[in-house]
Amino acid sequence: MTRNIVIIGGGISGLSVAYRLEKLFASDPPNITLLEKSSAIGGKIRTSSFLGHQIDEAADAFLTRVPWGLDLCSELGIAADYISPASSKAYVVVNGSLRQLPLGLVLGVPTKFLSLLKSRIVSPLSAIRAGLDRIKPDDWPGHDETVGELIRRRLGPEIAEKLVDPLIGSINAGDTDLLDLGLVAPQLEAAARNNKSLINGLRNQAAQGGDKASPVFCSFPEGMSYLTNTLRSQLKHTDVQTNIEVTSVLNHAKGLKVSAQGIPDTLADAVVIATPANVSCKFFDSTPSVISLLQQIEFSSVALITIGYRRSDILNPLNGSGMLVPRSEGLLMTACSWASSKWPHWVDDNHVVFRVSVGRYGDNRFNAYDDSSLVRHVADELKNLLEIEGEFIESRISRWPNSFPQYKRGHETLVDSIDTQIKTDLPGVFLTGSSYRGLGIPACIRQGNEAARAVTDYLRQ
Ligand SMILES: Cc1cc2nc3c(=O)[nH]c(=O)nc-3n(C[C@H](O)[C@H](O)[C@H](O)COP(=O)(O)OP(=O)(O)OC[C@H]3O[C@@H](n4cnc5c(N)ncnc54)[C@H](O)[C@@H]3O)c2cc1C
Repeated sequence: MTRNIVIIGGGISGLSVAYRLEKLFASDPPNITLLEKSSAIGGKIRTSSFLGHQIDEAADAFLTRVPWGLDLCSELGIAADYISPASSKAYVVVNGSLRQLPLGLVLGVPTKFLSLLKSRIVSPLSAIRAGLDRIKPDDWPGHDETVGELIRRRLGPEIAEKLVDPLIGSINAGDTDLLDLGLVAPQLEAAARNNKSLINGLRNQAAQGGDKASPVFCSFPEGMSYLTNTLRSQLKHTDVQTNIEVTSVLNHAKGLKVSAQGIPDTLADAVVIATPANVSCKFFDSTPSVISLLQQIEFSSVALITIGYRRSDILNPLNGSGMLVPRSEGLLMTACSWASSKWPHWVDDNHVVFRVSVGRYGDNRFNAYDDSSLVRHVADELKNLLEIEGEFIESRISRWPNSFPQYKRGHETLVDSIDTQIKTDLPGVFLTGSSYRGLGIPACIRQGNEAARAVTDYLRQ
């Protein structure tokens, strides 16, 4: 009997589901339909031309310290095409000036005392306070913590606010005082649980740890869309339909009914929903318990401003990959990637390109600016920090409303409840994607693989 599977959403999560389903059903392919609202696949992976280079409008790299991204690239035959950042140096803004991040930083946690002291990012007293972590007794409170709680407890508030929040907060567009330690920084949690000292725990991890020479992140000369485009091009049995906005998913006498604008209803034996939770909850009119759980996941909004200058107009040597901005600086920008220094393929004798992020949880000020005043404001901030003498010559704004799910304390329990509720109310429906169990690209691929396996098990029951 032919089975019909519908996948909703053509970002990296939905595409990974389709790819894995094709592999799992290799000898007996079902009908797989992928419905995508926009005119292109990729979702938050989007690359477009800027000053003659292919430059990403959101994600520009993926983590290589977890296997799922690398494994998929190997399967797709594109592992040889990787590139990695040209520089590992980075900076943080302190009182309006740049300070180089100290050596031995792990997710913002300094593990080398002298390097921290020399960096002048925190006061000498705060550096000493942080160093005391190595001799202080274990003071774990006995319950799950937020990132901020751990760092404030072991290393003090200045390390939390000037190093850890700018780094982990900017990866998640979040507030580390609210983010779940185990979900957003499992490496820090493991170090703190296995040692009474967080710094010693991180040093032990480094001493035992893997391949230090290999890059932490990688990308492609064509930008990250190369991954999603290759993935799509290798789908053999999936009918990918773009410009189709799904409106509801309902139980039906013959399985599940998927309704979308502009096409007849589709009946399916299984449906994988790979849209963000704040979108997915709108599909379930008849199941209020699922809706109310999904609505508990909060999101933050960001915009990414790509801005180009003549190289001769920038006095700063841009010797690094970029800079982070603590909340206390009061700037609109939260981070700035010195894209043409970071990525070897964007290096260009004539131009400099920056990718500036604005917006994070609790800071939506950028939404009050229209595009031209947002670029103007960001350009003024850059001018002061990087000694820029001329005007920018090209700019592009990519707005990403509600793009970063906030993994607050208790998120994992909430997601478990959502899974349980959906199994009861809508058997055959599976949720996947960045809202649930990891928001980086490799984690989305992993969840896509898991959703495909869950569908396979369900249909083979
Ligand atoms: C600015 C920014 C920078 C980032 N940088 C990085 C990075 O450097 N590295 C990294 O690993 N991660 C990064 N991330 C995170 C990562 O890109 C995302 O978490 C991931 O791409 C999400 O993939 P997804 O498939 O789960 O969701 P999405 O990419 O959101 O895909 C969902 C898809 O569903 C479609 N859709 C929505 N509504 C409907 C509907 N009603 N019907 C049909 N289709 C619908 C959307 O159009 C979209 O294509 C970044 C994210 C942002 C926003």
